[in-house]
Amino acid sequence: MKRDTHLVMLLLLVIGCSLASLTIWKVLGSRERALDEVNVHGLNLTQALATYSEGIVRQSSLLLLGLVERLETEGSGPAQIERLNALVNRQQPLMPQLSGITVYDNRGHWLMSSNRPIPAGVNSSDRDYFIHHRDDPSREPFIGPPIRSRSNQEWVITVSRRFNDTRGEFAGVVAVTLGVENFLRLFGKLDVGQEGAIGLSYTDGTLLVRYPFREQDMGRNFSKSPIYAKYLVDQSVGTASFTSSLDGVERLYAFRKSEKLPLITTVALGKREALAAWRLEALLSIVVVASLLGLTGVIGWFLIRDIRRRTQVEGELRLTQQQLLGSNRQLELLAMKDALTGLANRRCFDETLAMEARRAQRDGASLALLMIDIDYFKLFNDSQGHVAGDACLQRVGKVLGACVRRPSDLVARYGGEEMAIIMPDTDGEGAAVVAQLILERLTQEHIAHPASPFGQVTVSIGVTAAAGPQLAVVPALIETADQALYQAKTTGRNRMARIAPGDSSRSPLPV
Ligand code: GH3
Ligand code: MG
Ligand code: MG
Repeated sequence: MKRDTHLVMLLLLVIGCSLASLTIWKVLGSRERALDEVNVHGLNLTQALATYSEGIVRQSSLLLLGLVERLETEGSGPAQIERLNALVNRQQPLMPQLSGITVYDNRGHWLMSSNRPIPAGVNSSDRDYFIHHRDDPSREPFIGPPIRSRSNQEWVITVSRRFNDTRGEFAGVVAVTLGVENFLRLFGKLDVGQEGAIGLSYTDGTLLVRYPFREQDMGRNFSKSPIYAKYLVDQSVGTASFTSSLDGVERLYAFRKSEKLPLITTVALGKREALAAWRLEALLSIVVVASLLGLTGVIGWFLIRDIRRRTQVEGELRLTQQQLLGSNRQLELLAMKDALTGLANRRCFDETLAMEARRAQRDGASLALLMIDIDYFKLFNDSQGHVAGDACLQRVGKVLGACVRRPSDLVARYGGEEMAIIMPDTDGEGAAVVAQLILERLTQEHIAHPASPFGQVTVSIGVTAAAGPQLAVVPALIETADQALYQAKTTGRNRMARIAPGDSSRSPLPV
């Protein structure tokens, strides 16, 4: 039963572990898939945004190339600038992303600005793009850090080119300004959640545009952030997950470095937000599985309780059964014993005699039987009282018990004051010896019996012994012993008489 309980517990444990591990496996798997989806989504966005940004910069760069060509071939005198202005004013509506186009001379003075009159005394020789072109003879376009426009105070990014004079010396700069606002308008149309962010930056880590817009981030350098310091070192496209040093929010970043231009596009989505749907699904799965486990546990508990109760009942039953068996054994012993003398009773005597007779017959052995009757016992009772009579019976019983030594010998109370001794493997001679011993011991016991002519309690003993076929009829053996006893009585009592079975003379054998 204990094994049953253990088996149920093991079964519950196996079910519990299987369900729990399956759920964990499923939940972790779906988390992995959710993260993968977010990464793919981020990478797609960076691709679209990079293409868009590259397109604008490339268009600006082409426009600048034409203007530089014109300035270098036609010069930058007032008439040429006037014509250039007219051309620019025609071109600009074709590129709505453009905030303006400005031409500077070699000292940073404004020669021309599209759409607006030149502010008086404004000089841009301190701007990064001006310093870059002045000091670097390269003809390549330069993407400058975000700056506040001196004409309208808007945040702009510049794309600029240098133009030379006829001697090949630095003659000035032509710059296209791209309004950050235009980028933010597009970025704002993309759904990146509450914690998401989109960034466009220079390869050295200088931030050009960030959505959502934050004034303090403009022009900041993020070269120390993990994207630049760790991932972009040997990858141009990829994903990463880390906690932002700016706001402490953990984000999933997708980044892409432009192949031709020094631009990097990043799309970041808040990890918590991105996993919200997965978290809900996981929670639901866990609740369902936990409920199932709980239900299984309750059923198991009932089962175990039932098994324990059954075990207890069975234990009690076993105990009762053992007690019953014990009582039965006790009863059996009692049923075989005489309550007064403690000797075997008549029933035991009958069974033993029948059994020993069969055995002796089978083995060809001799079986002896002694019938013992107390002399003048009625007188004893009458003179001493019944209680003394009982005590006398007990003492005589003890004497008889002491006179037989073999374990196979049986002393029984045959009835009233008559007793019998069965002696297996004993012939008449041997039995006579025991009978004689009984007479002597009882004489030595000296139980007072004033009413008897002997003055003490004596017995008369009938002895017989038979072997082989003589034992086929057991009552005949008892009858012979009885006859011998009768002879002992009639010949004077306090003696023994022996008759062999089948003896026709029926006279006692000499002792
Ligand atoms: P005899 O010498 O011829 O054997 O005479 P007796 O008096 O012994 O024989 P009788 O059969 O006349 O009397 C037997 C008496 O034994 C009668 C009865 O009161 C007494 N007796 C039988 N069983 C018990 C017993 O269990 N306890 C007591 N106290 N007396 C018993
Ligand atoms: Mg008698
Ligand atoms: Mg008697």
